Amino acid sequence: MADTTFDVIVLGGGAVGENLAARVVARGLSAALIESELLGGECSYWACMPSKALLRSGAALRAARAVPGAAEAVTGNLDVAAVLNRRDIVTSHWEDTSQVKWAEDAGITVVRGHSRLDGPRRVVVRPPDGSGERVLEARHAVAVCTGSDPLILPIPGLREARPWASREGTSAKEAPRTLAILGGGPVGCELAQAWSDLGSQVTLLEQADHLLPALEPFAGEYVANSLRAAGVDVRTSSEVTSVTRDGDGPTTLATDTGEVTADVLIVATGRTPRTADLGLETVGLEPGSWLEVDDSCRVTAVEGGWLYAAGDVNHRALFTHMGKYQARICGDAIGARAHGEHASPVAWSPYAATADHTAVPDVVFTSPEVASVGLTEERASNQGLTIRTVEFDLGKVAGAAVRADGYTGHVKLVVDQERLVIVGFTAVGPDIGELLHAATVAVVGEVPLDRLWHAVPAYPTVSEFWLRLLEAYGL
Ligand SMILES: Cc1cc2nc3c(=O)[nH]c(=O)nc-3n(C[C@H](O)[C@H](O)[C@H](O)COP(=O)(O)OP(=O)(O)OC[C@H]3O[C@@H](n4cnc5c(N)ncnc54)[C@H](O)[C@@H]3O)c2cc1C
Repeated sequence: MADTTFDVIVLGGGAVGENLAARVVARGLSAALIESELLGGECSYWACMPSKALLRSGAALRAARAVPGAAEAVTGNLDVAAVLNRRDIVTSHWEDTSQVKWAEDAGITVVRGHSRLDGPRRVVVRPPDGSGERVLEARHAVAVCTGSDPLILPIPGLREARPWASREGTSAKEAPRTLAILGGGPVGCELAQAWSDLGSQVTLLEQADHLLPALEPFAGEYVANSLRAAGVDVRTSSEVTSVTRDGDGPTTLATDTGEVTADVLIVATGRTPRTADLGLETVGLEPGSWLEVDDSCRVTAVEGGWLYAAGDVNHRALFTHMGKYQARICGDAIGARAHGEHASPVAWSPYAATADHTAVPDVVFTSPEVASVGLTEERASNQGLTIRTVEFDLGKVAGAAVRADGYTGHVKLVVDQERLVIVGFTAVGPDIGELLHAATVAVVGEVPLDRLWHAVPAYPTVSEFWLRLLEAYGL
């Protein structure tokens, strides 16, 4: 690598860093993308992609079994080796050649190594082969896209028990015989579903009184019921007080609902910023902290406006799709500022250059799936909105009867009564994630209900629930 000065230096080549680098290159700037592990990051190798690959076969089998005629054609259980093999293919066998080629073809300079800030606009890279450190300089901006790590709670004995976290939980080479999962959020629920489908006896522990505590309570209740029906021991209102493990033997968790012993323990209790060894102290920031940003993803506490942070590391919305959205906004803002323009790349719209997080779409790929966007009823009320909610049982639309026997599901809208627009949507049902985007458009577009009335769902699709919800509202 001959060049040591770039217009933009991106620390961390996960999905977010890749997209940000590509965006600034498309705006005519040069970019170095520094990655210490695999280009593509958590999503490609240890999070979204492998977890969804592990879940997909079980979902497909359940879908076939719910339709007479197809059900008779399906015999036996999942082929675990084939599922794991497909997961390995989806993760490119934890090898990033194709992503490096994509980045280089996009005009990005890929740099291997661990990077640290070394004062304003300076970055020091420690190559993996132990060769000497290199100093890079950024003309316009440095963007931190280093993601997050699993949070290990300070429960006595937990760290010493060497639990698995999401990486091991998505890349394991065989199904544990018995598995305890600590945390009933999206990651815990998805891993419980996946490994239960693949033959593990799973115990899922959540301290809140329902699973998926950040969502509408009915969502977690549906998921808990279906996991229980599949044989998972779901324990809500269950707090783990200590953990013990003898050598490489099973792990025992003491909880206020009794002891749980399992061959493997997975911790899924949240994330912590990957910023401890990033040289933040050289620019006046606290090592190990989330990086607070403005709506163009510029770090607010650093003078000069040269430092940006996008993706998990800014803690705004810990999803790949939201991180990539931030990367597009941030890349455009960097590009525009570098060219001395207003931050918006779209002349007719100042809004295009600021990240809007009022409507974060979220799909939990359990069976049934949970899809949500915008506010829950509780959060909308806490924000002081005057709201009204309407709910509907998905199984009652004609499309559900055709789609699967015993189709059950539920949907809820949160309506802002002053503006007569939807501010929140939550649905639970088979494959419901694929229907989420209509709700996202309605929430982001602030489509008035009396206008939405004219968006007629095709018959007989499950989307007819929109019609029923609007009727329930009074249209
Ligand atoms: C089990 C699981 C399932 C998930 N499923 C979904 C899903 O279905 N959909 C969804 O939208 N989100 C999902 N997520 C969340 C999603 O994975 C993250 O939001 C996303 O990966 C964040 O991307 P990022 O680029 O910010 O960080 P990362 O993907 O973590 O990328 C950061 C990169 O920076 C590199 N790096 C770190 N420090 C340095 C350094 N000092 N120098 C150089 N490189 C460095 C890392 O090696 C890494 O490659 C899931 C998360 C988990 C744990």
